[in-house]
Amino acid sequence: MDLHGKNLVGGTLSAEGETTFPAHNPATGEPLDPLFYEARVDEVNRAAENAALAFEERDDRSARTTAGLLDRIAEEIEALGQPLLDRAEAESGLPQPRLKMECARTTGQLRMFAEVVREGSWVDARIDRAEPKRRPIPKPDLRRMLIPIGPVAVFGASNFPLAFSAAGGDTASALAAGNPVVLKAHPAHPGTCEMTATAIQKALADCGYPDDWFSMVHGVGTEVGQVLVRHPGIQAVGFTGSLTGGRALFDAAAARDVPIPVFAEMGAVNPMFLLPGALAAKGEEIAAGLHGSVTLGSGQFCTNPGLLIALAGDDLDRFAAKLTECFSAGEPCTMLHRGILDNYAGATEDLSAKAAVDLLAHSTTQPDASKTQAATALFATDAESFLADPEMGDEVFGPSTLLVRCQSPEQMLEVACSLGGQLTATFYAEDQDDALFTPLRSIIEAKAGRLLFGGFPTGVEVCAAMHHGGPYPATSAPQTTSVGTAAILRFARPLCYQNWPQDRLPAELTDKNTRGIWRQVDGRLTKDDAAP
Ligand code: NAP
Repeated sequence: MDLHGKNLVGGTLSAEGETTFPAHNPATGEPLDPLFYEARVDEVNRAAENAALAFEERDDRSARTTAGLLDRIAEEIEALGQPLLDRAEAESGLPQPRLKMECARTTGQLRMFAEVVREGSWVDARIDRAEPKRRPIPKPDLRRMLIPIGPVAVFGASNFPLAFSAAGGDTASALAAGNPVVLKAHPAHPGTCEMTATAIQKALADCGYPDDWFSMVHGVGTEVGQVLVRHPGIQAVGFTGSLTGGRALFDAAAARDVPIPVFAEMGAVNPMFLLPGALAAKGEEIAAGLHGSVTLGSGQFCTNPGLLIALAGDDLDRFAAKLTECFSAGEPCTMLHRGILDNYAGATEDLSAKAAVDLLAHSTTQPDASKTQAATALFATDAESFLADPEMGDEVFGPSTLLVRCQSPEQMLEVACSLGGQLTATFYAEDQDDALFTPLRSIIEAKAGRLLFGGFPTGVEVCAAMHHGGPYPATSAPQTTSVGTAAILRFARPLCYQNWPQDRLPAELTDKNTRGIWRQVDGRLTKDDAAP
C-alpha cells in the first residue's frame, strides 16, 4: 500500500497545510517516506464538525450494525497483512513477534467489543415500573439505559502503534458504544496510523456508515490536539501518554464552555513490595523475572515495575546482587522515538546525580545514540532519602527501576503512604509476612487499580475483569478502565425515560425483552419480560 501522508477528513484526503514531517526509523535514525501533512486548524475543525453532524443524523444504532462494523474493521486490518507489520516495525523499532501479537490483540479487541455489543447487556438497562396507587405520591414509570456520548477524540499512544492507536482500544470502545471518532495520529508512527485508518474507512463504507464517522488528523505539536479537544462537537477524549500531555488535555477540556470528560491514562511507577518471607524463599527467582519485566518492550510500558520496596537485610542483599548481575549482562534497548529516549536519558541522569541514589548496574555495552538506544539501569536508595525527595517517585519511562531499602516495617508503610495513584501494585509475601502485609495491603488498595499477588505487572490481559486504571496521576478518571470490556462505559451516558409509551421506547427498555439482555426489573436482575 502506497502511503500518501495526508489527513483523512472523513473520506476525503486533505493536505491543506504547508508543514510536513517525516516518521523516523528509531533503529537506524533514518527518515522514512513519505512526508506527512500536519493538519491546519480548519481541517481539524472540519473533522470534528462533520463527526458531530454524522452523529446527529445517524438513526441506525442497531447492535447488529455496530458489531458488524467492528468485525469488518478487524478483517480489513488482517487483510493489510505483513506490510502493516513492516511499517509498524520501521516506525517503532519494535520486533516482528511483538507486533504480530499486538496486531492480534488489536483485532481481538475489536471482535471482543463486537461480541459485547451483539450480546447487548452492556447498556445496563434498568426498569422501575409505575406504582400509580403508591401513597403519599404515585411512582412514575422509569426506564434507564446507556446511550452513546457523541464524537470522541482519540490520541494514539506511542508505545502501542496498533493496540492503542488508530484502531486500538480507545477507538474500538468508542465505536462500540455507538460514537464517531476523530483520531489525532501519534507523530511517531503516522504511516501505521494511515494504513489502519484506511482499513477503518473501507469497513465504514462496507457497513453503510457515513465516511465522517472516522477521521484522522496529523500533528507534531500540541496545537492540533488542543484544537480538537476544544471543538464543541467533541464530547469525550481518550488518551494514553505522558502526565504532562494528559493533564494539559484534561485542563483544556475543563476550560471549555461545555466541559467534557477526558479519559487519560498517564502511567505509573507500579511499586512492587517484596516482603521478607518472600525474599528469603525466592529472592533470586524474583530478581531474574523482574529484569525481564523491567526491560520488556524496552521498558516502555505504563505497567513497567519502576519501584521495588523491601526491608534491608541479607536476603535483600542477595536479591540485589542477582538483579545487578542480570542488568549487567543485559543489552541496551532501542527506544520508540528520540523524544522518549531524551526523556529517559534526562530522568536517569537526574537520578544518577542524586547523592542518595546509587547506580547499582546498567547494560554494559555502550548504547548507540544513532540507533535510538538507551542503557538499562538499576538504581538503589534508602527509604529516608526517598521520603525526603518526592521526585524519586516519578515515573521514568524506559528500562530502569529503583530499589528502596527500608530499615523497618513502619518505614515500609510510610513509603507506601507517600506514593501517588498507581495503575498496579505487586506483592510478594509468604504467610509469615502477614503482620506487615495486612496494613500494607489496606494502604495500597486505596492507591492502585490492579493488585498482583506474585508475578509481574507488564502484560495486561484484555478481558471483562481487567481494570487498567487507577487514582490520579495514573489516570484522570479512576472509576474507568482503558482495557477490557468495561472500557466501553467511558463513552456512554445514562438516559432515563419517564412514563413513555411502549411503542416509543428503545427495544432494550420495552416490557417484552426482545433483545434477550440482562436487565434490572424492579430491582431484580433478569432476562424475563417485565410484566405490564
Ligand atoms: P505524549 O508526549 O504525552 O504525547 C501523546 C499524544 O498527545 C501525542 O499525539 C501528542 O502530540 C499529544 N499531546 C501531548 N501533549 C499535548 C498537549 N499539551 N496538548 C495537545 N496534545 C498533546 O506521549 P509520547 O509522545 O508517547 O511520549 C512522551 C512521554 O510520555 C514518554 O517519555 C513517557 O514519559 C510518557 N508515556 C507514557 C505512556 C503511558 O502508557 N503512560 C505511554 C507513552 C508515553 P504531539 O506529539 O504532536 O505533541
